[in-house]
Amino acid sequence: MHPELIDTRSGESRPLCVECGESFERDLMEIAARRGTGMPVSPRCPACRAARRDEHNARVLETLRTGQLQRTRPISVGPDEGARSLYSAVCSDCQRPIRLPFKPRLDRPLYCRFCRDARSGR
Ligand SMILES: [Zn+2]
Ligand SMILES: [Zn+2]
Repeated sequence: MHPELIDTRSGESRPLCVECGESFERDLMEIAARRGTGMPVSPRCPACRAARRDEHNARVLETLRTGQLQRTRPISVGPDEGARSLYSAVCSDCQRPIRLPFKPRLDRPLYCRFCRDARSGR
């Protein structure tokens, strides 16, 4: 929830900048542009936003200059691909919770890595 002040005279709410704590005028153009996109309206005053933009630009230029842009980019976006298809089960021996990359068969005992190793005599 964004901090807001209610103007005692007009009764309008004014957002407070999360950066400097000053109240500022909402940018109606921005609100209109963000409507329906699900993107939040910036919680910072125009001055702080400009400062952040400058900071951001300086950082991008710095990474470009040092050639680290490739590494600073996130490798994957969204939920972990591998984690989604794991099934939960419980080891038939030690009751330890285990994760399986396949759907477990209920008519067969399932063992965790340790119990399976122990059973195969390692
Ligand atoms: Zn500010
Ligand atoms: Zn086990």
